[in-house]
Amino acid sequence: MNFLIYFLIAILGTVIGSFLNVVICRFNTGRSVSKGRSICFSCSTTLKWYELIPLVSFITQLGRCRTCKNTISFQYPIVEFLTAIIFTLTAYKLSGIFFVDPSNFVAITTLTTFIFCLWIVMFVYDVRHKIIPDIFSYASFFSSVMLAAIMHGPQSIAPTLLASFLVASPFAIIFFVSKGKWMGFGDAKIALSIGALLGISAGFTSLLISFWIGALFSIIIILIGKTKWGLKTEIPFAPFLFISSWIVFFFSLDFSSLMKFFTF
Ligand SMILES: [Zn+2]
Repeated sequence: MNFLIYFLIAILGTVIGSFLNVVICRFNTGRSVSKGRSICFSCSTTLKWYELIPLVSFITQLGRCRTCKNTISFQYPIVEFLTAIIFTLTAYKLSGIFFVDPSNFVAITTLTTFIFCLWIVMFVYDVRHKIIPDIFSYASFFSSVMLAAIMHGPQSIAPTLLASFLVASPFAIIFFVSKGKWMGFGDAKIALSIGALLGISAGFTSLLISFWIGALFSIIIILIGKTKWGLKTEIPFAPFLFISSWIVFFFSLDFSSLMKFFTF
C-alpha cells in the first residue's frame, strides 16, 4: 500500500480520535455521545466546525479556546494523535493480509482498530478516573475473541479463551491475595482481551514489559518527587498494559524474541 493510503488512514485516525475524546468526556455523565454539539468546558460556548478540526484547531488556536482564551486540555490532541498512529501502524502491520485476502483485510483491520479504540478510551479513562468501566473491557474481550475466530476459524475460540484466562490469571491472583489492595480487578479484565488478541506467549511478554514500564515510571516519579503521585496514591496500571501490548503487537514480540534480545 502506498503513502497516500496511509496518510488517509492517519487522517481517519484523528477524526475517530476526536470522537473517542467525546466518548471519554461524556461517558457516565448522562450526555449523549451522538447528540449535542461540543462546547468549551470553561465558557460553555458551542464550538464552530472550524474549532473542531482534529489536531489542526488545537495547533492553530495554540491550545486555547477562541472565545474565552482558556487553555484546552492536552488530552484532545494527544488522543487524536495517538489514534492516528495506532490506525496507521495497524494498517501497516496487517497489510500482508491485504494481498492474500482483501475482503478479510477490511474486516480484520476494522475489528482490530475497534479493539484498539476501546483500549485508548480505557487508557485515558483510567488515568482520569482510576477506574475502567466494565462495558469497555468486556466489549474489548468479546471483540478480541471474535477477531481470533475470523482470522483462524471457529476452532480457535477454545485456545483463545484459554490464552485469555491464563494471561489474566496473574492479575486475578494478585487481586485476591492482596484483597484488591495492590491491584484492581479491572486490570484482570483488560488482560482477558490482551490474552485473546496476542495469545499466550506474546500475552505474557506484554505483562512482563508492562511491569518493567510500570516500575520505571514509578522510579522516575519517586526521583522527581511529585507528591501528587506519592506512594499512597494508586498509579493506574492499565496504561502500562496497553503500551506494552501495542509494543508487542506492532513489533511482533514474544518470549523467544525477548530471550534473543537478552542473550545478544
Ligand atoms: Zn471557552
